[in-house]
Amino acid sequence: MKNPLKRLKTGNNNFVNDNLNNKFQDSSRRKDVVSGQKPFAVILTCSDSRVVPELIFDTGIGELFIIRVAGNVANPSSVASIEYAVAHLNIKLIVVLGHQNCGAVTAAIKAEDSGKNLNHLMKFIQPAISMTDGKTVDDVSHIHAKLTAEKLISQSNIFAKAIETAALKIIPAYYHLETGIVDFFE
Ligand SMILES: [Zn+2]
Repeated sequence: MKNPLKRLKTGNNNFVNDNLNNKFQDSSRRKDVVSGQKPFAVILTCSDSRVVPELIFDTGIGELFIIRVAGNVANPSSVASIEYAVAHLNIKLIVVLGHQNCGAVTAAIKAEDSGKNLNHLMKFIQPAISMTDGKTVDDVSHIHAKLTAEKLISQSNIFAKAIETAALKIIPAYYHLETGIVDFFE
């Protein structure tokens, strides 16, 4: 796809206006993609049940390579999943999608002991909290998406090289629960 970001914006506009195409969601599409996938973008986003990338961007089977983890954190497993997509699926766009009223960010701000597994996730949100002292959950979510996008570049040779040689883009974004609008921070 020539302009994956434009495709995401068009799809989001369809979603916001209750005008979904619902393409590529039937038995013939299933058949077409059995032998391989060619997703046009990677989305790293939260596991929150209200944040559904396929709907938000009006996409069907085989179009988005999605990593969902509470708080959309760049931990070793999520970074490795994205590396696979960049190295093997010729991906040119990665979107780090934070969202309004994120429970993981709220928990990270409260900083209670949630046991070692959840604490591990919270750790990845701490840098955004430090940078937004005294601000709201949604402010932290904005900054967290931006920092995570920056961190992806510095954390992975595969991404750094793909940015140089293959024009890979990593763009933070923010999803509004009520309007359905995605703001891209290009
Ligand atoms: Zn969330």
